Amino acid sequence: MLKFVIFGIACFVLYKLLTNDRKKKVEVKQNHDEKLAKEGVLVKDPVCGTFVSKDSDIRIKEGDQVRCFCSYECRDKYLKMIQ
Ligand SMILES: [Zn+2]
Repeated sequence: MLKFVIFGIACFVLYKLLTNDRKKKVEVKQNHDEKLAKEGVLVKDPVCGTFVSKDSDIRIKEGDQVRCFCSYECRDKYLKMIQ
């Protein structure tokens, strides 16, 4: 009987560790993207907030600023927003 209890606790601890780890990874990825954005490697899609490569093909020129988007859908939304 005790074995089952220990096994249950072990599973619970393992589960907690795994879910915490996953949360951390998401945070790390976000920080990583923000760092790249600061370095000018990535730019933020102004519509949905996704970080996209500066070399993205989906872009518009707005004055002397170039805006990059994750999808044509976002680009079209942005165009509608600034009109
Ligand atoms: Zn987008």
